[in-house]
Amino acid sequence: MNSPYLCPNCKTNRSRFNLIEQVARPVKLNPQTGEILQQFEIEHLEPFHLPYQGPSYKVQCGICGVIENEIVFVKQAQTCNFTRKTNNPLNSADNF
Ligand SMILES: [Zn+2]
Repeated sequence: MNSPYLCPNCKTNRSRFNLIEQVARPVKLNPQTGEILQQFEIEHLEPFHLPYQGPSYKVQCGICGVIENEIVFVKQAQTCNFTRKTNNPLNSADNF
């Protein structure tokens, strides 16, 4: 993630975000009880068990709280044509 973000919802936040890591845990459940019978490593899935293919993390806007895939925030930033100047006043207050 080296692209600027812009929240697609509040459209003002470019700097405060929560990155939500998504860790898929493949399991086999007892169909009756829901109890976990078996857990798998991704590499050792049964042939018919589809591995998780979604994004490795999601992004939450730290201002309005909306949660989307990273690409949505990146696209929004690109759409809004933000110039990447090092001394941009919108960013200068946000060097953590
Ligand atoms: Zn927002």
